[in-house]
Amino acid sequence: MQQKYVYVFSASRTEGEASMKNLLGGKGANLAEMCRLGIVVPPGFTITTEACTEYTKKGKDYVLNLIKAEVEAGVALLEKEMGKTFGNDDDPLLLSVRSGARASMPGMMDTILNLGINDRAVEGLARKTGNERFAWDSYRRFVQMYGDVVMGLKPVSKEDHDPFEVIIDMLKEERRVTLDTDLDANDLRELVQRFKSLIRARLGRDFPTDPWEQLWGAVVAVFESWNNNRARVYRELNDIPESWGTAVNVQAMVFGNLGDSSATGVAFTRDAGTGEDLFNGEFLVNAQGEDVVAGIRTPQQITLEGSRRWAQLACVSEEERRKNYPSLEEIMPEVYQQLVAAETKLENHYKDMQDVEFTIQEGKLWMLQTRNGKRTGAAMVRIAMEMLEQEMIDEKTALLRVDPHRLDELLHPIFDGEAMKNAQVLARGLPASPGASTGQIVFFAEDAEEWAKHGQSVILVRLETSPEDLRGMSVAKGILTARGGMTSHAAVVARGMGKCCVSGAGAIHVDYKNRTMTIDGQTWHEGDWISLNGSTGEVYEGQITTKNAELSGDFGMLMALADKYRRMEVRANADTPEEALIAREFGATGIGLCRTEHMFFEGDRIRAVREMILADDEFGRRKALAKLLPMQRSDFEAIFREMHDLPVTIRLLDPPLHEFVPHDEASQQVMAQEMRVSLGKIKMRVEELEEFNPMMGHRGCRLGITYPEITEMQTRAILEAALNIQAKGITVKPEIMVPLIGTVREYNAQAAVIRRTAEMVFAERKDRVHYLVGTMIETPRAALIADSVGSQAEYFSFGTNDLTQLTLGFSRDDAGKFLPHYLKNGIYEKDPFQSIDQKGVGMLVQMAVQKGRSVRPDLELGVCGEHGGDPASVEFFHRSGLDYVSCSPFRVPIARLAATQAAIKDVPKKVELKQQPELEAVG
Ligand code: PEP
Ligand code: MG
Repeated sequence: MQQKYVYVFSASRTEGEASMKNLLGGKGANLAEMCRLGIVVPPGFTITTEACTEYTKKGKDYVLNLIKAEVEAGVALLEKEMGKTFGNDDDPLLLSVRSGARASMPGMMDTILNLGINDRAVEGLARKTGNERFAWDSYRRFVQMYGDVVMGLKPVSKEDHDPFEVIIDMLKEERRVTLDTDLDANDLRELVQRFKSLIRARLGRDFPTDPWEQLWGAVVAVFESWNNNRARVYRELNDIPESWGTAVNVQAMVFGNLGDSSATGVAFTRDAGTGEDLFNGEFLVNAQGEDVVAGIRTPQQITLEGSRRWAQLACVSEEERRKNYPSLEEIMPEVYQQLVAAETKLENHYKDMQDVEFTIQEGKLWMLQTRNGKRTGAAMVRIAMEMLEQEMIDEKTALLRVDPHRLDELLHPIFDGEAMKNAQVLARGLPASPGASTGQIVFFAEDAEEWAKHGQSVILVRLETSPEDLRGMSVAKGILTARGGMTSHAAVVARGMGKCCVSGAGAIHVDYKNRTMTIDGQTWHEGDWISLNGSTGEVYEGQITTKNAELSGDFGMLMALADKYRRMEVRANADTPEEALIAREFGATGIGLCRTEHMFFEGDRIRAVREMILADDEFGRRKALAKLLPMQRSDFEAIFREMHDLPVTIRLLDPPLHEFVPHDEASQQVMAQEMRVSLGKIKMRVEELEEFNPMMGHRGCRLGITYPEITEMQTRAILEAALNIQAKGITVKPEIMVPLIGTVREYNAQAAVIRRTAEMVFAERKDRVHYLVGTMIETPRAALIADSVGSQAEYFSFGTNDLTQLTLGFSRDDAGKFLPHYLKNGIYEKDPFQSIDQKGVGMLVQMAVQKGRSVRPDLELGVCGEHGGDPASVEFFHRSGLDYVSCSPFRVPIARLAATQAAIKDVPKKVELKQQPELEAVG
């Protein structure tokens, strides 16, 4: 049988259906489905995505020949259904042509309306409708759209205006009118002539008058648009393969601009902003599709309730509303009832919120499109939970309906929609930590503290942050850095704090000396207002008001339901009791990583830490460590209290020591005085600590091995705190963790210090507490020898930040210089610090899981790198058989839902360790 490339849909015959999205595209499949449901749709046909693929492979002539007979038969059917003839001068059949891929794809060809009209048909249309202005308006629109989209008459440069709009504006000026609607039939006729002359002058060819030539031109333009730049970029970003192709939908025109009993509009079966189960939408009387979105006239509300709500917001009196902006419900009650019946039928059928387009031609309703509506994160949650309650969908479907990423929107402050209308983007960086913030620029952490003390809202702007900036960061409303990636210090710390952060905004030049920030030659000073959107990475000029996100009841219900289907636990990375509290509130079932060094900066501690680092010998170090002990102990006590009954994994000191010492002379001077040594000595020690590559230098377990007294002090602080809390009748579950091992001997050396110290503490206290000793797996070698490590360690926690850094050889802090280029050029598909590189780093994780469990079947396995909060990575970890993921507190709900979805989608099977083929580099 010959291959079929055209599928018709009409009241009398429909060949497609909703399940045929791959072949007919989303729009085409849904149009066919609507016809099957008995909904009134203008008849039409869909040219398949396979035709587009053939076009890409074999070119225009081949494909037009391939589909010609079927398209002609399709047009014949439309002629029959509509009782008009395509190309007829007296009563012409006009068509719309639209693209429609499997997934909705902005960037593809826009709609062409009124195709089939020409100098003779326009007169026929005028006679037939008795409406000359309508006929010429239709022609004007067609020449404009076709000239732009199909013939390619675009502005010359990006600063240039749309050439057609320039002509319209000129004519309006000549006629001394301001609105398009003030132009009469003669004016529109004049516009058509001017448009055509422009096309001839600029493109050197005439506007096509033959309807068939117009139709083939439009079909080819749709195929071509599949490969235009915008579409290509969108495909790359959204993992849409080129081979999918787009379908072409050709449909009989119906007119919303045929007078006062005609209209056109868009509607949502539920509120896309809040999720409320309330039919709503907008329409315009006597208008064609693009007028509603163009914003030239104020659209009217479809429902009476919506109209009243709108009037209240727009400060329009009830009298004025009824006179100038009545609802469809009021002015066309019968059509309104038909529309309600159609939207109800569609939502019940698709069992999801629908976004529909419709046209009313002289009192008759036509549905033009339906699709699952886009919605905010809050609406996503509410709609899923209410549809579950209304028994439209089951629990698993409700859980799969919510995109875990979008939960972010519910957890952080957001910009006020109204205030955003005039917002101007100054620069873009990485969306390092979500939320919205607005404040005055400060460049130093101390200033942030000082200003905040006086009640000012500040944004801390830095080249990059370091642990010294912690306190300033914690009081700032937001953090902006010029350098650094998604796992830079600023990003990690901000996410932990739930604080908005934009990192690596390369266009920003920070001048600490003059306290200024320059972008593209424009300068901002300390105290100037800026705003950050940490969810998009955008930096805005001035002050934009924010509002707190509300955690609605639906959110709580969704999370409770998620726990029912989840296998993996979700812990949090939390360093303070405050973070532990947030983590618990968000449903974390433990702390997977407490980075002890983050406690070293509070109050007087940094002084004791520096004293320890700068000491000459063990005696000096022990003296300083003795000062730190009570402080660390009390921190741990507070965390254990907060996390009662739940495991708390505490990591021993990890970062390179130079991060703690003062680098500016003034602080070094203070240090010298306090320690009663010379400035020169301090300087020398600081210099000694400097390393070429600190992330691969004296850090991790290497610190505890060279200075076992640090491990001793930390073990003592952890276990004494645990005993103290246990003595109050509270269950504690400490897990002590050794960082960055590469050999079993490293692990054993540290484990020995921990166990020896523990026995000492237990003997002194005449009491014991159950605790685990385990290790991070964050060097490739540790993963490779995970069986030997597993025979010694009681648990593994994969530090996927370092594991990624060391496996790929990408510095976490410097990758921002080349990664954007890599991503843009498809060398890497995703930022490997955000979403785990499954084929490389993931392979090491799976290998370590198998090796570890082969020697210790009950080995506890978790992840505490940033990937623990990334839904795609969470799914991978689920499949790899891990017991838990740990992420920053604000990502806990995201990880919980992602883990649930992974469990619903996939029954865990035995992981087979097989080298996967590397397609393109890391593809
Ligand atoms: C890691 O490396 O994944 C990790 C959690 O440790 P850090 O980010 O503190 O190096
Ligand atoms: Mg690490």
